[in-house]
Amino acid sequence: MVDKSEIYDVVIIGGGVIGISIAYKLSKSNLRCAVVEKNYLGNGATQAAAGVISPLFYGDDQINSPMRQMRELSYEMFLKLEDEFEELEIECPFNKTGIFRTAFDDKELELLKKLSDITSKLGVKSELVTDRKQKNELNFLSEEIRGGMFFPDEGYVDGLNFVGKLKSAIMKMGSDIFENEEFLDFKIVNDNTNQIITSKHNFFANNLVFATGSTNILEKYDISEELIINPVKGQYILVRSKEFELPYTIGDGSYGQTDEGPQYQGYLVPRDSGLIYIGASKHYGLNDNIIELEGINFCLEVAKKYLGSIENFEFISAHSGIRPQSKKGTPVIKKLFNSDNILFVSGHYTQGMMLSLGTAEIIKNYLTKSDEILFNLFNEM
Ligand SMILES: Cc1cc2nc3c(=O)[nH]c(=O)nc-3n(C[C@H](O)[C@H](O)[C@H](O)COP(=O)(O)OP(=O)(O)OC[C@H]3O[C@@H](n4cnc5c(N)ncnc54)[C@H](O)[C@@H]3O)c2cc1C
Repeated sequence: MVDKSEIYDVVIIGGGVIGISIAYKLSKSNLRCAVVEKNYLGNGATQAAAGVISPLFYGDDQINSPMRQMRELSYEMFLKLEDEFEELEIECPFNKTGIFRTAFDDKELELLKKLSDITSKLGVKSELVTDRKQKNELNFLSEEIRGGMFFPDEGYVDGLNFVGKLKSAIMKMGSDIFENEEFLDFKIVNDNTNQIITSKHNFFANNLVFATGSTNILEKYDISEELIINPVKGQYILVRSKEFELPYTIGDGSYGQTDEGPQYQGYLVPRDSGLIYIGASKHYGLNDNIIELEGINFCLEVAKKYLGSIENFEFISAHSGIRPQSKKGTPVIKKLFNSDNILFVSGHYTQGMMLSLGTAEIIKNYLTKSDEILFNLFNEM
């Protein structure tokens, strides 16, 4: 006899931001979910994220591409989150502090002006600062920074706080989360039922979703190459200024479009108790959590670039996490094993926080059969 409590509409393997967001959206649509996490929620890439939430696209995003649609959908979902959480009587984890994108010279200022034309068409608010004296709160920034653009509706989430709040919401809505429990194997019982064997349970579910970040747990099955996820380690540091509290995220306004080609520039992001997140380095192919001096050095360079000097900062700690990068560099959403009910969702690389709620909405729309268009576009990519 199967214990009734072990039957779910959806079992989700992986309690990172992607798995938890999917459980949140599905639970809101009255599907009963179980999330199986082998460690604690958010222990993977999620805990390391700067958590920058911005709808702005990078050069590789084509208008109307599935990626752009996912990004816009996700941003829309973040703006709705406050109302949704108010209804659930849970504090909203999205900090809409705004983001200031810097310009060091005329060229970067021009780039930002062009960007503001595009973003205003999308309804994204922005304020161009051509002379930093216009905005007194920018006094803490390096004197090399000429101006920039402030995006008031953007902000950040702290990875662990975000999944923690989503967990409270999921449990309030009647779904379950099993931490310290590992996925071991599964069997397709029939068209509508899958058996999922974990280190502690034997679950049965109509739908099974793998959201396991960079861990490649499906390698032992016969899966295609495009589902192999590459690890990209990232390091960040936490510091505290003795002189100011960071009011909002500071990021690069050139979107990495330099004369030498795309170059990633790093961020400063506010954290609780006056802490500042500075990061994050990129180490391709590295799958360990060793803190290396090279990574710390990258973070110090980011700090110097935006703040000018790193005097008067207290060093608090250094951390790392593994970003899940797909072969194409964009998120992978695919049906598996010739089944309409077994899905693979990973490869969010540098943007898993930003794309989490949009990804979850796409999966929810597919599983509830309310809109399959965007899901199918990703599935066929
Ligand atoms: C340094 C750094 C900075 C970042 N900054 C940003 C940012 O500013 N904005 C942004 O949008 N994104 C950012 N990201 C990217 C973002 O963090 C990731 O894209 C996102 O966290 C990926 O989420 P995930 O759920 O796919 O993976 P993970 O968070 O890694 O979750 C996968 C989970 O699966 C679990 N798991 C694996 N195997 C099993 C098993 N057999 N059984 C059960 N559970 C299992 C793991 O324990 C893990 O918890 C950053 C990432 C890093 C590392």
